[in-house]
Amino acid sequence: MKDLNTVLESTKKKYREIFVQSLEVIQNRIDAIKPQGIVTDVFETYPENSDGDKWQKAVLDMLLNDISKEILEKWTKVLAYRKEFHCKGCATCCNLACSEFSPEELQEKARNGDNFATQFTSIFVPYNTREEAEKIYPEYLAMLEGKGEVYFYHCPKLNECKRCSDYENRPQICRTFPDNPLDILPESCGYYPWKQEVEPVVLMLHSMVEIIEYYKEKIPQKKD
Ligand code: SF4
Ligand code: SF4
Repeated sequence: MKDLNTVLESTKKKYREIFVQSLEVIQNRIDAIKPQGIVTDVFETYPENSDGDKWQKAVLDMLLNDISKEILEKWTKVLAYRKEFHCKGCATCCNLACSEFSPEELQEKARNGDNFATQFTSIFVPYNTREEAEKIYPEYLAMLEGKGEVYFYHCPKLNECKRCSDYENRPQICRTFPDNPLDILPESCGYYPWKQEVEPVVLMLHSMVEIIEYYKEKIPQKKD
């Protein structure tokens, strides 16, 4: 049985390494537009209209426009590349869906207009026992052990031949699954090679978004 906790730890380690590289790349771009004569960093408070103030504005513009646009373009390519891969019909995602929310909480969310909860509750029903869910993907349940309350669901529309009995009307969440390469996928999934291939890029994009958020919060911003 594959130990998904080890896989998860290795992904976290990779993320930390990629984060450091992304930070260096972004910091280099910030330094490249630093006006001559400024020795302090971009988090300093500079007088209005000073070179430092203009630099901060240019940095924010670069982070929130140029770099954010580059991130979006790369993410769009990742999603477009997904179309090269196809569902192999292993039925794992129909047979096992997990949520931190109980059936009652999901129903409540759906009543309050939550689109994901509305779709989810339109197809998935809870397993009666954890053991039933465990038979579908034991590695996954072992990984979740001790990580807080998780509820397990399955879709009764899956027929005995592991086919969707209402394929034409399946909701969007079925049509787009998996929509995030960072999701844990079984190796039987047709999108697993996509995940493997694009994961380093997605980790890099994720780290850049996190770094931009940090800079946005820490750079003093004056109203124009
Ligand atoms: S509606 Fe069909 S595709 Fe969606 S989870 Fe159920 S069986 Fe699977
Ligand atoms: S886990 Fe992947 S291959 Fe299996 S049914 Fe879902 S999308 Fe298809």
